[in-house]
Amino acid sequence: MRIGAFLIAFLTLRWGPTPSANQRSLLRSRRWIETPFYLVCIAAIATISCRSRESQTPAPTSSPVSAAPQIASKTTAGKRVIFIGLDGADWSLLDQYVSRGVMPTLAKLVSEGSSGTVKTISPPLSPLIWTTMMTGVSPLEHRILDFLRVNPTSQQREPITSDERKVPAVWNMATAGGKKVGALGYWATYPAESVNGLMVSDRLFTFLFSETSPPPGVVHPASMESWARDGLKRAQDDVGYEAVKAILPWLTEAEYAQAVAVTDPYAHPVSALRRILIETKVYDELGRDWYSRENPDLLLLYIQGTDSIGHVFAPYAPPRQSSVSEADYNHYKDVAERYFALIDQLLARYVALAQKTGSTIMLASDHGFLWGEGRPTTLSSAANTTAAKWHAENGVYLVWGPGIQPSAGHAGSGKVDQVAATLLALAGLPPARDIAGPPLPGTPATPSSTEPVDYRAVYTPAKPAAATSASSDSRVDEDTVAKLRALGYIGASEGKGRAFGSRTAGSLNNEGLLLKQHGKQKEAIDTFDTAISVDPNLASALWNLSDLLWARGESLDKSDALLVRAFANGLPEGTKYLIGRAIGYQRNGQVDRSISLLNQAAAAKPNEPDVWLFRGRYRVERGECAGAVDDFRQAARLTPNNAAVYASQGLAELCAGNSAAARTSFQKSLQLDPNQPKVREYLRGRGQ
Ligand SMILES: [Zn+2]
Repeated sequence: MRIGAFLIAFLTLRWGPTPSANQRSLLRSRRWIETPFYLVCIAAIATISCRSRESQTPAPTSSPVSAAPQIASKTTAGKRVIFIGLDGADWSLLDQYVSRGVMPTLAKLVSEGSSGTVKTISPPLSPLIWTTMMTGVSPLEHRILDFLRVNPTSQQREPITSDERKVPAVWNMATAGGKKVGALGYWATYPAESVNGLMVSDRLFTFLFSETSPPPGVVHPASMESWARDGLKRAQDDVGYEAVKAILPWLTEAEYAQAVAVTDPYAHPVSALRRILIETKVYDELGRDWYSRENPDLLLLYIQGTDSIGHVFAPYAPPRQSSVSEADYNHYKDVAERYFALIDQLLARYVALAQKTGSTIMLASDHGFLWGEGRPTTLSSAANTTAAKWHAENGVYLVWGPGIQPSAGHAGSGKVDQVAATLLALAGLPPARDIAGPPLPGTPATPSSTEPVDYRAVYTPAKPAAATSASSDSRVDEDTVAKLRALGYIGASEGKGRAFGSRTAGSLNNEGLLLKQHGKQKEAIDTFDTAISVDPNLASALWNLSDLLWARGESLDKSDALLVRAFANGLPEGTKYLIGRAIGYQRNGQVDRSISLLNQAAAAKPNEPDVWLFRGRYRVERGECAGAVDDFRQAARLTPNNAAVYASQGLAELCAGNSAAARTSFQKSLQLDPNQPKVREYLRGRGQ
């Protein structure tokens, strides 16, 4: 066993992290593994060509949706409110732009308004978080738990719909209170809900779900649908070569034409940028046009591009990362800054509207974004399920307008679920019973006599969309699932499983994570089990259940088998998790468990060199020297230029009593990496 002890010390040296460091990194990385489907966000602003267009819209005949008298009687005058949701906005980036003069309007709002941070929820997925912001309750209550659902009639997957939501959102509460409200672009708002005002759902245009044309029912009232479709056509026509060239000055017309011709818009940064600009522009222009003409009490605008611009272009932002070529860096380094300059121009137009109408402005994001350390390294890294790790925990919020006192820096702090209560307070709506509060710091105090009201009692969930033809359904479905997979929202193996009612396996997996966070471990285990029965290859659910069982110290055999299945099904960084557990068992004196785990892993996925390396290591520890030599040979076959593999093989051969073969292996190792004093010392000791 002496050689075994030497080997262990040696290998630990050569393989970098000590077991405890490895375990620590496992703990650190657990957060993202729980958030396997990131949300890309893409929206559109642009107005690159800043000329405003007069809409030829017919006067909207907004079908009157009646208020609930018991709630309407408790509203106060309030201020008009313009809320702009900026997906993924993060002060670490915005403050830089403010100080460098890139965002002068935001600078004014920050210096005159009250701002702070809002803590997000996990998993940080857009449909879940924005629905939490707009309802004030956990996804466990509002029940928007995934990007997709399964249509109960057609059995096809589709972007998650408004009729899945079980509780009222701010637009329903405003309607109940008799206020006029417009909401544009929010997740899970199709079919458009009956509100007192306007709703343009996310299915009008979104980066993720490119449809040949928006489905019927994207707008409420229906009489406004052609107005919205015309707006989309205008935005698509406007964002052409010149608009994209304004952000990418080096772009030739031929390069532009080539880039936009690709079908997957994420495949090329230029086509991705164009879609971001269209999405930003269409909701901005429709929202502003409607606000100017209708003067509503509350406008809720959602901009996804502030997040998606990061997913696509943060890899290229300064300082240059070694993974980014000089050429790509020079092409794309200024894209984010130029896009946020456009966002600032967008804000300026709403500030002008707000000043004209005495409105309050509120901004908020659903989470932050890692623009510096930890940011994406390449565009293609958007296409894996680890992308949520780019999202940072703290989003932003800001309130500005009459009666709002400036804060010292971003002093306020709260949670994303307080956004709904804040909007109610700003708009003069009575507070809601059973939602998160209080309003975020900086919100002017409301009369303390106002009792919370029960908006749920007067809420009728949205009706499902009228069935459309089967052929158009299946086209959406195929496109949607392929795109979600390409963008990393769902893993490569996902989207093939059955459904659980209208729910996807991903939805169940997300619910399991939320239940676990709420301390409901038994329910979480059941829910992960259901997710796996719906989709047996769902790597994230396999891992989540494995990890939870392991943390509880129960069903370790089942836990290990689940981990191996997750590893074999492409769990991001699955090797690290697997090896981490093997190391944990070994350190705990359970080397047999380590080997059993690695045996299963080697059988399930034989092309992972680390599995052979570590099994060889533990077999030496058990004195199975010949078997260990075989393992290191397998590893060498898979990574022929890895000096550590040959050094290990040399040690195993020594252990097996074959000093000549050991010498050859050590020499090979030294050729690959001359800087190995222990190996050199050994050979010198043998007179080499
Ligand atoms: Zn987001």
